[in-house]
Amino acid sequence: MEIISVKTRSRTEFVDVTAQVRAALKKSGVKSGVCVCFVPHTTAAVTINENADPDVADDVDAELGRIVPRDGHYAHVEGNSDGHIKSSLIGCDQAILVEKGELVLGTWQGIYFCEFDGPRSRKLYVRVMSNEG
Ligand code: ZN
Repeated sequence: MEIISVKTRSRTEFVDVTAQVRAALKKSGVKSGVCVCFVPHTTAAVTINENADPDVADDVDAELGRIVPRDGHYAHVEGNSDGHIKSSLIGCDQAILVEKGELVLGTWQGIYFCEFDGPRSRKLYVRVMSNEG
């Protein structure tokens, strides 16, 4: 398993980690299989979306903030319930197919680490599983 370190700079932030996941895949040497990305945090997530126009990730981040406001009426006393809720909405894992040693992503797709209670030092676990007998 590879561990990608992600240092976030804002309370909420979408960090493009596609290049780091590709590097982890190369290091594994797997040509055909599945690449699993897993976030071991309860106020962060991982998603796949457009990485050509950075406004897309900014729009998703901003709209999530409107759907799940920071100052909602939450019971959890730590003050980061919005982050926990967003983490569950987006999810803590992605599975990406691997063919010919490459991630099978659409032309405009990138992998984003989603920070919902930063800034913090975070981790993204990457495990590549091979189909090759
Ligand atoms: Zn909490």
